[in-house]
Amino acid sequence: SDVFLWAFIRFASYSLTYTSMAMYAFHQAAVAGGTTMILDFVIPQNGKSLLEAYDRWRKTADSKVCCDYSLHVAVTWWSDKVKEEMETLTKEKGINSFKMFMAYKDVFMLQDDQLYAAFAQCKEVGAIAQVHAENGDLIAEGAKKMLSMGITGPEGHELCRPEEVEAEATQRAITIAHAVNCPLYVVHVMSKSAAKVVSDARRDGRVVFGEPIAAGLGTDGTHYWNKDWAHAAAFVMGPPLRPDPSTPGYLMDLLANDDLSVTGTDNCTFSVCQKAVVNGVEDRMSVIWEKGVHSGKMDENRFVAVTSSRIAKNSDADVVIWDPKMTRKISAKTHHQAVDYNIFEGMECHGVPVITISRGKVVYEDGQLNVSPGHGRFIHRKPFSEFVYKRIKQRDQVSKEPPVPVMWGEDSSPHCTWWGHLSYIM
Ligand SMILES: [Zn+2]
Repeated sequence: SDVFLWAFIRFASYSLTYTSMAMYAFHQAAVAGGTTMILDFVIPQNGKSLLEAYDRWRKTADSKVCCDYSLHVAVTWWSDKVKEEMETLTKEKGINSFKMFMAYKDVFMLQDDQLYAAFAQCKEVGAIAQVHAENGDLIAEGAKKMLSMGITGPEGHELCRPEEVEAEATQRAITIAHAVNCPLYVVHVMSKSAAKVVSDARRDGRVVFGEPIAAGLGTDGTHYWNKDWAHAAAFVMGPPLRPDPSTPGYLMDLLANDDLSVTGTDNCTFSVCQKAVVNGVEDRMSVIWEKGVHSGKMDENRFVAVTSSRIAKNSDADVVIWDPKMTRKISAKTHHQAVDYNIFEGMECHGVPVITISRGKVVYEDGQLNVSPGHGRFIHRKPFSEFVYKRIKQRDQVSKEPPVPVMWGEDSSPHCTWWGHLSYIM
């Protein structure tokens, strides 16, 4: 039926918990695609405890997972309790990344002062701040406008949140993170303009990392205008794919040259950002190989760097044997994902995972899965990871400048500051 799919996503009325069946299928798909560790998202509801949401997740997941996993925790509201729980999560629970939403107004969205507080706390406890960068107020207004114009189809999803809505929020997140000297990770960079913002910031010396996702590297937003509603709807994700067909190639160029840093699939699969149908976890490696290595944009070493090594350092004896000459055609008919649609349908890929080894055990070989629930482990990640924090700490150390000593005149009060006077005059 012709539901308002994009409005639906905006209101984020998905169930925020996995069913264990879905989780199992998802991990199977990962293993079959040559991914041996999953980073998933705990998204507590607005007003609810982060710790309790985390505990619930672990309780469901630990006995079911068939490959190693770790978690990001979302900060969807702000209070002293949230601040405390972020500390407990990093010190005791193996969490070193928190995701903040600048979109999903009235549901998960944080205001700038709350972002500032959350980023500052990330910095304090040694976590990396992740951000969903889209201007939630503008999306809310855009959605109203589209509805008033009678646009209710999947194309409205892109039209109510165009590129600049993403680029603006990306710039704002970088500015706020810089104000507290906190490392920032921009998840799902979907547009050329947002990618350019990240790239420019890196060249200005900001500690920021941008992550294009498999969907954004492998396909584009022209599908939202497809006459077949079900086809168009299958591509809906937030932020959306962009209609500019040169976007995937541009994002791949930036990824190849380290303007963007790492690729994911944004696997908050059953939550707000992406639906199961677009998660792409099984095809991630093949799509990036095809569009990156086979096309000549990046070499094999860069491929490993952007798909694996930064995440997998903690995992022991995880190996993927990759055949770069082998080809396969991506299809929903043959994939292991628990969905009946694949946004890469029909794509011919060079580069196929032949064997996947997880924790020293062959879990996938020549098309056959050999997994069992509970085989995977939760991986504790440490705070103040050197990769992101070494520069941050050093900058703090060298920037501790004492204030300029001031000689106060007879009628000047030492309680006043010069900028206090300034604002008085203005
Ligand atoms: Zn997101």
